[in-house]
Amino acid sequence: MSYCVNCGVELADSEKKCPLCKTEVINPKYIVNSEAAMPYPPYRPSPSQKVSKNSVIGLLSLMALLPIALSVICDVGINGRIVWSGFVTGALALLYLIIVLPIAKSKIDSVTCLGIDFAGIIVYLYYIDRTIEGGWFLNFALPVTLLVAAVVMLITFLSLYTKSEKLPIAALTMILFGFMNLAIEILLNIAFLTRDYLVWSLYPLATFVILGIVLFYINANKPLKEKLQKKFFI
Ligand SMILES: [Zn+2]
Repeated sequence: MSYCVNCGVELADSEKKCPLCKTEVINPKYIVNSEAAMPYPPYRPSPSQKVSKNSVIGLLSLMALLPIALSVICDVGINGRIVWSGFVTGALALLYLIIVLPIAKSKIDSVTCLGIDFAGIIVYLYYIDRTIEGGWFLNFALPVTLLVAAVVMLITFLSLYTKSEKLPIAALTMILFGFMNLAIEILLNIAFLTRDYLVWSLYPLATFVILGIVLFYINANKPLKEKLQKKFFI
């Protein structure tokens, strides 16, 4: 009887390798008898169970359609026309689009996928604005959504389809996020507050621009970058 030199597991006569840690058995006094019975059955990987894409999409469609149908029936039954069920329908349709599109996509890329998601968000916001006569779609909701869409799609494109490193992309994200705050405050001022001075957006702008510049500096300084990577195990 032998034991593994590495992990101490008991070895059967037929074993050339430790069954636990795969250390090779080297023992001049120990003759491997490959005829001897194996102490365990040979390894067979279990077949992975694949769930079909269509059944997942079918289930998700049912999960979206059922509450939509129920709310429209209730709404029309009570009010005689669509009052609030349009919001439920829009929200669920949007959620459905955002979840199902990445599952269903096989030929469209992630940036186009995001573009379609943001287009859906714009349509839903337009519907809400029209229904409640909000008057904030054109001068606020649309430009803010387009701005966020542009930033998110640019960052996604850079990180997925170019060979850029992660650090400069993170730095650019920080700076763009800072300017996004500034743009949102300007749009808020124009749309709702009729104010022509900035109150809060300069603080996040300064913070994120400084953070972005620091990240760009670290990226340009190779010894510092390597030192930080070792320190933070990245
Ligand atoms: Zn072992």
